[in-house]
Amino acid sequence: MKVYLDNAATTPLDPVVFEEMKPYLLGNFGNPSSIHAHGRKVRAAIEVARRKVANLLNTSPSEIFFTSGGTEADNMAIRSSIASHNIKHLITSKIEHHAVLHTAEMLEKEGVKVSYLNLDKNGRVDLAHLEELLKENSASLVSLMHANNEIGNMINLEEVGEICAAHKAIFHSDTVQTMGHYVHDLEKLNVQCIVGSAHKFHGPKGIGFLYLDASHKMSPFIYGGAQERNMRGGTENVYGIIGLAKALEIAYEEMDMHETHISSLKKYMIEGLKEKFHGITFNGVSDDLNQSLYTVLNVNFPPSDKNDMLLFNLDIKGISVSGGSACSSGTDVGSHVLRELNTPIDSGSVRFSFSKYNTKEEIGYVIEQLSQVIQLYK
Ligand code: PLP
Repeated sequence: MKVYLDNAATTPLDPVVFEEMKPYLLGNFGNPSSIHAHGRKVRAAIEVARRKVANLLNTSPSEIFFTSGGTEADNMAIRSSIASHNIKHLITSKIEHHAVLHTAEMLEKEGVKVSYLNLDKNGRVDLAHLEELLKENSASLVSLMHANNEIGNMINLEEVGEICAAHKAIFHSDTVQTMGHYVHDLEKLNVQCIVGSAHKFHGPKGIGFLYLDASHKMSPFIYGGAQERNMRGGTENVYGIIGLAKALEIAYEEMDMHETHISSLKKYMIEGLKEKFHGITFNGVSDDLNQSLYTVLNVNFPPSDKNDMLLFNLDIKGISVSGGSACSSGTDVGSHVLRELNTPIDSGSVRFSFSKYNTKEEIGYVIEQLSQVIQLYK
């Protein structure tokens, strides 16, 4: 049996999405910037896709900018906001995705003051600290992820948005892990920038978007042609855009059903693991279904000098999981998120992340195989 439980890294493409994309890989090949019929047809399809995304998020198409993915959208939100509004202070946390964290580090070298919010032992951000920092520093940019890709911890977007609005701070949230899994109603949220990446919700890789509140003006991120209303030069990833919109549409249509299904798988896994393994703990608040992303469970197996072989042994058994953020896989530097939580190095941390395609049978198989692997260590 092959089991894929690394959906926070990427999800399989939905075949319905692929069918929608196909005509734009074949016959509809025109350049959307061309003014002839071939170009106009593709331009129209992009604008239909933009409208679809905007409608789903309850916002206007003029506030949606397509990018190459979540990383670019995060970079654009942070860098362009800072440059355009002469912001001297960025507030973020040490457990953000590297798309944010490495951008913050670069900005610090360029003279921007960066403050990192205090975290409790489970990785929850201290909102009193946020208020304190905002009182001391006017004109700040706050960048906090909606859900953590490794441990699934979530922030309350409404609450943080209100705090930022009260202090006239700009608020960007990396919503890559929640887009397509939770409703984002931009009419109700006090947020200037959020982002999405299609491959996290059964769309294609290499396409994402930035939502930019109309009142938050900023300079382009990539200079070139007039694409994306002069904000992001470069010929559009047409089939990616078509696929992203279709994938988001399906995600919204089926959201309740998938949330129920995936949450039940997560619950089944938590119970199964607790029953089979003594001394097991969960990183962050990922075992609390009310506080964490329903697609992510980060498990801490008891310390053993063989734990570094855990992922390898699961891989041999056909189980694909991750030990941390897959976005930097291949570089054996460990997880910056788990480091912030003081997770012991020799305890085997495994991130299981689920999708609509996983089944209860697969979870049962994984628990069974895990108990065999761990048994070998005794
Ligand atoms: N932000 C978060 C929270 C992510 O999980 C990821 C990908 O893992 C990204 C940003 C980057 O997205 P992309 O792969 O589209 O560049």
